[in-house]
Amino acid sequence: MQNRHTKLPLVKLNPSGTHRCLYGHSWIFDNEFKKPDDLDPGAEVDVADARGRFIGRGYFNPASKIAIRLFTRSSRATLTTDFFMKRIVQARDARKSFLPEDEPRRIVFSEGDRLPGVVADMYGSAIVVQILTLGMDLRRERIVEALMSVYAPDAIYERSDVTSRSREGLPERKGDLIGSIPERIELSTDGVRFAVHPKTGHKTGCYLDQRFNRRRFAEFAAGGRVLDAFAYQGLFGVYAGCAGASEVLAIESSDEACRELKDNADLNGRPVELMRANVFDTLKLLESEGRRFDLISLDPPSFTKSIGASSNAKRGYKEINLRAMRLLSEHGILFTSSCSFHTDRESFIDSLSEAACDSRRIMQLIELRSASPDHPVRMEVPETDYLKCAVLQARE
Ligand code: SAH
Repeated sequence: MQNRHTKLPLVKLNPSGTHRCLYGHSWIFDNEFKKPDDLDPGAEVDVADARGRFIGRGYFNPASKIAIRLFTRSSRATLTTDFFMKRIVQARDARKSFLPEDEPRRIVFSEGDRLPGVVADMYGSAIVVQILTLGMDLRRERIVEALMSVYAPDAIYERSDVTSRSREGLPERKGDLIGSIPERIELSTDGVRFAVHPKTGHKTGCYLDQRFNRRRFAEFAAGGRVLDAFAYQGLFGVYAGCAGASEVLAIESSDEACRELKDNADLNGRPVELMRANVFDTLKLLESEGRRFDLISLDPPSFTKSIGASSNAKRGYKEINLRAMRLLSEHGILFTSSCSFHTDRESFIDSLSEAACDSRRIMQLIELRSASPDHPVRMEVPETDYLKCAVLQARE
């Protein structure tokens, strides 16, 4: 079927697809419409409700469970370089109230910025981009052109080495797209210095999403004993050190991360005691040694890659949080994070309640936080709300 007005192919959604899209979501699953035979993978497609009324426009991938991702509600927008520029400028302007333009930040966050399948992070004068879907993979040149027009970076590097691309029928890929990105880039946020390795680091080089949570963490640090568990580059601990913590202990299992952590501690002239070890075992050990902390960050990797594993995840969260709660000094504060969107806020809080009960500590929930605002959480797309950070205080 074709849209008479726009000449683009038209698909009609069944009621469940219609319902989600009318509430603003941008995903359409492969069982929510009849797949047309004549539609090319990656092609633009108009989407209508069950009665044939236009809802929006998306791009199609028959190989993916998410068969269409809507990128606009307008019947005039198409995926041209101008369109990408417009979305990138909208994303830039929305961030102005929160973040200085010369600081590291996420400049495009996929569905959060209505550019499904594109993530881009700015590190100094370089951009690291991730292209996650076939529809966007086919339009890589336009995306790069648009990023060049809006930001004129010295380099654009691609880090599409993510396993989720296989669900789109795409191989992983990485490499320079414009210029040549340095192996190591020195940066600072909130006056704290650190280095990223865009070619080899996690994600695009670091976890920008925790920035506002680290800033808040540092506000509780002065004079205190701080534990940074699942430390990666040590940024929770280094933020705390820069804010006057009396001691910082970091636990991290990867050698590579430990080297980066030490580098960051040195850059700021703040000593960090480093244990290259497994957090699960080490929290128990610290408890038996009688060590206590006034401020703890627990920031584990995603325990759930799939919904099926979510009961294991619940056990994992409960176990580490229970251990961490026991390590808190009187009135000590725990920042505990979960970055898996398969664990929603409610079940995360459930795990924390169970952990509090078993720890025999009285815990007060002080704040429930999210990713920094350069990772926009769209109310109508629950999957954008993947990072939860609860702040709890041990009470008498
Ligand atoms: N807190 C960090 C991000 C943490 S990412 C930040 O603010 O940037 C999770 C980290 O946990 C990774 O570096 C990973 O190597 C480490 N990790 C995963 N499992 C671990 C375990 N069982 N014990 C110790 N570290 C672990």
